Amino acid sequence: MRALLASAGYKSTTSRGHIVSLLAGREGVFTAAELLEDLGERAPEVGRATLFRTLDLLIGLGALERVRLPGGQEGYLLCDPHHHHHVVCSSCGAIGEVESGALEWALAAAVEDSGFTLRSHALELSGVCAPCATDASPRPAGAGDIREGL
Ligand SMILES: [Zn+2]
Ligand SMILES: [Zn+2]
Ligand SMILES: [Zn+2]
Repeated sequence: MRALLASAGYKSTTSRGHIVSLLAGREGVFTAAELLEDLGERAPEVGRATLFRTLDLLIGLGALERVRLPGGQEGYLLCDPHHHHHVVCSSCGAIGEVESGALEWALAAAVEDSGFTLRSHALELSGVCAPCATDASPRPAGAGDIREGL
């Protein structure tokens, strides 16, 4: 990520360095509130505004992505800088990756039909992940009785 910032012509300031090292070890989705809390412990001199500016910068570079979580909150996740989309499980917040050349092509074609040339886009996809879909399906007959017996 540091290399990515450098290659994009951004100076590695101390504040950015702190934020990048804060992000580097993370897996899955995290929120700005979590980052602010960690930042408060590890580098309290870095301000909230700097954090949000750096997050936006990384999103612009494709190294970080912003997703909408089930509660309406915004989450972030580290991503490959190639173009793709995310689907968020509305039940548990799991994130799936969506990559489809056909989808990209169809979007560009649809926009072109409106007389525009597509330059960028973001999609907000919400669904139910496989484990949550299984949980929601009706239980086999008798399963409820066994549970009550416990
Ligand atoms: Zn991704
Ligand atoms: Zn789920
Ligand atoms: Zn796309």
